[in-house]
Amino acid sequence: MAATIYYDNDADLSHLKGKTIAILGYGSQGHAQAQNLRDSGLNVVIGQRPGGKNYDLAISHKFEPMSIEDATKKADIINILLPDEVQGDTYKQSILPNLSPGNVLMCSHGFNMHFGQIEPPKGVEAMLVAPKGPGHLVRSEYEKGGGVPGLLALWPGASEKTKQFGLAYAKGIGATRGGVIETTFAEETETDLFGEQVVLCGGVSELVKAGFDTLVNAGYQPEMAYFECMHELKLIVDLFYQGGLSYMRYSISNTAEYGDYTRGKRLITDETRAEMKKILTEIQTGQFARDWILENRAGAPSFKATRRLERNHPIETTGKKLRALMKWIDAKVVD
Ligand code: NDP
Ligand code: MG
Repeated sequence: MAATIYYDNDADLSHLKGKTIAILGYGSQGHAQAQNLRDSGLNVVIGQRPGGKNYDLAISHKFEPMSIEDATKKADIINILLPDEVQGDTYKQSILPNLSPGNVLMCSHGFNMHFGQIEPPKGVEAMLVAPKGPGHLVRSEYEKGGGVPGLLALWPGASEKTKQFGLAYAKGIGATRGGVIETTFAEETETDLFGEQVVLCGGVSELVKAGFDTLVNAGYQPEMAYFECMHELKLIVDLFYQGGLSYMRYSISNTAEYGDYTRGKRLITDETRAEMKKILTEIQTGQFARDWILENRAGAPSFKATRRLERNHPIETTGKKLRALMKWIDAKVVD
């Protein structure tokens, strides 16, 4: 079934006139959504803890950041834009005790509500408005007069009025200029986790490392392996982005295209697809969510150790050296 998509004409900012919107967290999404809403003429307050660069950033953008408790108290619409792994505890300690009936709770990713870490109390409706892009793009596209497309989902029981708030909010951040797809908390949360685990982050990182390792173990120079298996990926992805698989295949050589058709399916086998299905089931049953929540509860020991080990993989040391030589790529170093 094709998705329902809303545009500027389907949304009316006046639903939010006279309301106060609290943006909790002035990070990637917070700083972008808050400024876009304010530039759209809406009343925004910021809940941001002091002491870090995001607090200073909010001040430099002429906001007066306050505690999460105070921002929640002042607002009618409360959008939680904190990191997903801190939302559950912060909600219970600082947000829930300060909510009033009639408030609307919002988020940009459904993880915590869908997996029961945030349970909107009686009298408080909830919804999700999620830009399909990072905060800096949400801001820069808005400033250019455009907008990053977004998603809208209503928490069960939400009224038509809340939906109108959601559409107005989406318009306020510029999302209806690009189009807002109607979805559900389950669909947004589960497809987001699946995409990052199987394709975007987990899948592609392991594919790149496996290709690199195979070449290096066969005696090829690591620098050659880096260029082939990591650096050139950008050229391919840029072609996907502009014109899908067909345009990528149109742009590469016939030899590369023939290799693609005849070899790719030997890598992503029935076994790989069955494993994807298993990963999806772990997402749907909440097993992944439970693992990640418990990992954080334990102080994230395995997460931190794996991060350290992964940063020492030879593709990382080789890449760091080569990227430093390519001035045009704006190389980034993570310590
Ligand atoms: P960021 O990590 O960029 O920002 C988080 C904000 O929360 C910062 O202002 C940070 O302040 C504050 N914060 C962090 N830890 C705490 C804490 N323990 N107590 C109080 N405040 C804290 O988050 P994002 O903007 O990336 O993500 C926010 C939400 O948006 C998430 O639900 C995410 O899934 C969703 N989302 C993110 C997208 C993205 O591209 N980034 C895209 C779509 C959705 P400080 O500086 O003091 O640490
Ligand atoms: Mg995602």
